[in-house]
Amino acid sequence: MQETISMTQDRINKEDISDKLLEKWRDWRWQLKNSITTVDTVEKILDITFSEKKKQAIQNTIEKFPLSVTPYYLSLIDTEDPESDPVFKQCFPDVRELSLSNCDMSDPLHEDGDSPVEGITHRYPDRILFHISNVCAMYCRHCTRKRKVGDQDSIPSKDQILKGIEYVKNTPQVRDVLLSGGDPLMLSDDYLDWILERLSEIPHVEIIRIGSRMPVVLPYRITDGLIEVLSKYDNIWLNTHFNHPREMTGSSKKALKKLNNAGIPLGNQSVLLRDVNDCPRIMKRLVHKLTANKVRPYYLYQCDLSEGLEHFRTNVGKGIEIMENLRGHTSGFAVPTYVIDAPGGGGKIPVMPNYLISWSTNKVVLRNYEGVITTYKMPDDYNHYECDLECDDCNLQLNTENQESDYKTIGISKLLSDYEDEITLTPENLDRDARNREDVS
Ligand SMILES: *Cc1c(COP(=O)(O)O)cnc(C)c1O
Repeated sequence: MQETISMTQDRINKEDISDKLLEKWRDWRWQLKNSITTVDTVEKILDITFSEKKKQAIQNTIEKFPLSVTPYYLSLIDTEDPESDPVFKQCFPDVRELSLSNCDMSDPLHEDGDSPVEGITHRYPDRILFHISNVCAMYCRHCTRKRKVGDQDSIPSKDQILKGIEYVKNTPQVRDVLLSGGDPLMLSDDYLDWILERLSEIPHVEIIRIGSRMPVVLPYRITDGLIEVLSKYDNIWLNTHFNHPREMTGSSKKALKKLNNAGIPLGNQSVLLRDVNDCPRIMKRLVHKLTANKVRPYYLYQCDLSEGLEHFRTNVGKGIEIMENLRGHTSGFAVPTYVIDAPGGGGKIPVMPNYLISWSTNKVVLRNYEGVITTYKMPDDYNHYECDLECDDCNLQLNTENQESDYKTIGISKLLSDYEDEITLTPENLDRDARNREDVS
């Protein structure tokens, strides 16, 4: 009898302790405070030992590109064979990060160059990228902004953020603001609220997007408090960054569900990474897990030319093969757009298999995912209707009242338009320009 009582007592105490531990484990601030930043700790936790030589090389890597991983994300590693684990590869330094390839660039996307105000990249006509944080819960080894990771000088001050908001306010064509970083959800709820409030007051800002890897690397960040803040605004979208089906844990699913229940549309941006997810079956499994949790696969990125990423990069052919394995083979909305973010600031360029095989004046020849070759006959009487951009006189009934009247287009769409005279896009400083006689040019 006595024994039974003491055993029960023992159990109660144990449950008490494990409840407390669990509470800590699920506290995002505890996770951040206890993030793992040294090789020694990783060795102990995963029970592996690197050779002295390798350890030194890893140490050198960390000095250039710091290591920081949440206990949560580290716990997803399969300790049977940690070094070939997709989670391990995304969070633990690889000595190859220090071997620069001749095409590596520190800012391949020209983000610092296309920047009207510090912290803002304004590349596309109607949307901007706004860096509001320079820290992340986990330092992805494949980060395209590796140059800024842990850089004390790039922590945006409140003053700098105000300048960014001012820029948005004074730039009426910006209808879409993408909050990025670092991870915007590293900011406190109050600070985030402060930024969101100011942005949402701007009449021309139609949507605010948050890019965050929290649902993957620290799902406990999606607290009720955060949801309360995000729910105050009715135009917020969130894009996250799952790269491998193994990352979709119970905790991640709960975080996604909370965001979903708050009515926030969710998207996912994956990066194609060698030895992590460069496999059609893995990618298919991933997009299925995403859609089952109401996350729409948005982009699949070709890995950028940032410094120290050569060992992660794949051939573009691998990406196209993956797209070939998705389109038609699974739900259309599970298929992301595969893009190459053009070095030098050209922006995202979609790349995909060719489906349009040939065409004549009245037919196109297409092929489907099964290899069926088919034809689509075009209407005989579809005449070109010259568009003069006088929309009020057009039968398509676009109501242009209260809309800007100086509608303009750029790029290839300008070449296609009737209302612009441009017939070519020509690079500046062609050699032949220099050869031409001045009197005839
Ligand atoms: C990716 C990106 C955007 C957003 O592009 P979408 O195709 O609209 O998602 C905007 N600005 C910059 C600088 C970007 O890199």
